[in-house]
Amino acid sequence: MGRKFFVGGNWKCNGTIEEVKKIVSTLNDSKAPPQDVVVVVSPPFVFLPLVQSLLRPDFQVAAQNCWVKKGGAFTGEVSAEILVNLGIPWVILGHSERRSLLGESNEFVGDKVAYALSQGLKVIACVGETLEQREAGSTVDVVAAQTKAIAERISDWKNIVVAYEPVWAIGTGKVATPDQAQEVHSELRKWLTDNVNAEVAESTRIIYGGSVNGANSKELAAQLDIDGFLVGGASLKPEFVYIINSAT
Ligand code: PGA
Repeated sequence: MGRKFFVGGNWKCNGTIEEVKKIVSTLNDSKAPPQDVVVVVSPPFVFLPLVQSLLRPDFQVAAQNCWVKKGGAFTGEVSAEILVNLGIPWVILGHSERRSLLGESNEFVGDKVAYALSQGLKVIACVGETLEQREAGSTVDVVAAQTKAIAERISDWKNIVVAYEPVWAIGTGKVATPDQAQEVHSELRKWLTDNVNAEVAESTRIIYGGSVNGANSKELAAQLDIDGFLVGGASLKPEFVYIINSAT
């Protein structure tokens, strides 16, 4: 299929200097993942330079967010330009915690994705439905609308990874079954075929996030349209190393 397996570790708002050093040293000591796995860890902003300086060179870092346009008088924000200046290659955008807690709309996330890409960042763009939306049968409509707001604003998909993260599975221990995840991934790929083009649909990685751990990652990774993971809680633990290797 030609899509390189991709595993991101979203550390969210966690960690002390000591803990961060410990996680990095576990990753650095781990057996090299197979050639065709991209590994990206995403510490809080303030730890990015530290992690980047300590992390083995075959692993990369991502910021967890960035501002929607050129930096300036935006207290508390971090711009795409600043990330580029620091040599940070990736940014996570549209995480459901930001959509729900900070009111980021589909359009706002789309604007952020477009701006970050325009500045040379690579983007992990998150989509996903809430439990109410799933129960109402609108999962595909919701993720399609979230993806559409991105697709309308970008033309080049080579630097974007789409993370399907059902909100009800995030941090809850309630992982989507491999079938449930595969179904949405395949619908998303179909949406890309119908609304962008077949080449983008075939080459864009769609990764799964939501309670991924060492016990469920292998079965999820075996699904045809699951091209990797965005891991939260388990990315702070040694089992992340196992998850990295779950595609083999
Ligand atoms: P979780 O988080 O693995 O802790 O469920 C995933 C995410 O929010 O990216």
